[in-house]
Amino acid sequence: PMNPRKFAIEITSRLQEAGYTALFAGGCVRDALLDRKPKDYDVATSATPDQVQQLFGRKRTLAIGKAFGVITVLAPKGADPIEVATFRRDSGYSDGRRPDSVEFTDAREDAIRRDFTINGMFYDPIVEEVIDYVGGQEDLAMKVVRAIGDPDERIEEDKLRMLRGIRFAATFGFDLESNTLAAIQKRAGEISVVSPERIGNELRRMLAHNNKDLALGLLWKSKLWREIVPSNEMVSQTNWDFRKEMLRRLNSNDFATVIHLLFSHVLADSIKDRGRPKFLSQLQSAWRLTNDEVDRAEWIARHHALLTNADEKPWSEIQPLLLSPHVKFALDVADVLYRDAAGIKFCRERLGWPAEKLNPTPLTDGGTLKSLGITPGPQFKELLSKVRALQLDGKLQTVEAAKEWLIANK
Ligand code: ATP
Ligand code: MG
Repeated sequence: PMNPRKFAIEITSRLQEAGYTALFAGGCVRDALLDRKPKDYDVATSATPDQVQQLFGRKRTLAIGKAFGVITVLAPKGADPIEVATFRRDSGYSDGRRPDSVEFTDAREDAIRRDFTINGMFYDPIVEEVIDYVGGQEDLAMKVVRAIGDPDERIEEDKLRMLRGIRFAATFGFDLESNTLAAIQKRAGEISVVSPERIGNELRRMLAHNNKDLALGLLWKSKLWREIVPSNEMVSQTNWDFRKEMLRRLNSNDFATVIHLLFSHVLADSIKDRGRPKFLSQLQSAWRLTNDEVDRAEWIARHHALLTNADEKPWSEIQPLLLSPHVKFALDVADVLYRDAAGIKFCRERLGWPAEKLNPTPLTDGGTLKSLGITPGPQFKELLSKVRALQLDGKLQTVEAAKEWLIANK
């Protein structure tokens, strides 16, 4: 497939050849200067959306974002499309989320409507030059996330920027500039206008990440944590140094696993009841977690402790757990909470067993029971699972032995 950077350069030079200003913009400039691979390339231009469409042809463009000045240019086979955005100024943010309208303008004004200085730079890939109206290069060198302009105003305009700022600081290991931090602290309560989906996405990106402990520290320091965690009980029992240390020790970046470690104190209590733990349901709504994430967090809460002394338990109790897709995440949690427990090693060893040894074919099934004249009913399932347990524990080894046991115990 086409190299995405090459495709972005191609688009930029087509625009420049047609007489427009065209530059790489935002995250891709920042990432290149940090020697990181950009997630995607954005091109900003003086051409209006109509001019962009005309230049690249209607067949090769999509106009989904046209109202905001964005035309998507489709790539040749395999490569991602690139968004070409007309330089714009946003005016009025009456809902704290979206600009009321946009007006087309020049590169400098387009830079200063962006959120943080490190995200506000342009790069001309033809002459290989950074164009920096906001001091982004200096802040990159100093490893600082700083709002462009007045931090308080910028956050008032768009409350999501609070979480974005923390995400960039945490994931890059940067500091949050002090006035930017103070503005977030002041306006933390206003995060409630941001949708659960966006809150969840930002949290997933910063917590399902190597620097999750830094993210947690900043969420706490910025006062956002108690605004985004749905119940006081989940907030008040958080012991910060302990949680951060646990996150540091976790050797995975799985979001559900991180969620378990963040709230293990309240989850431990609520799993005593049947059904979905109350706290997980609340968190699912507040952060728009997927069902898979919640299922896994619940599974970990219910089972990780048993795994740590698996070596002392009947195999028939442990074996079904090892068949779960969630087990390796629960073992990661066990590693953190019960470091060298013998059960953890035991489980990992057995997970390495060949499939037929780990999960041998059952000696009996419903057909066996019927052939022995046992009528289908509630005891059916019970008998089958008893025979299965005896098989796993090595007490029944052949079909014949299983049948004899059934005849004697039906
Ligand atoms: P990444 O894609 O790695 O999350 P990014 O910086 O590319 O980082 P995007 O959300 O893709 O972030 O946005 C692209 C650019 O648009 C940003 O670099 C920034 O300049 C600008 N931007 C995005 N969201 C906002 C916002 N909420 N307020 C102001 N500017 C924003
Ligand atoms: Mg991006």
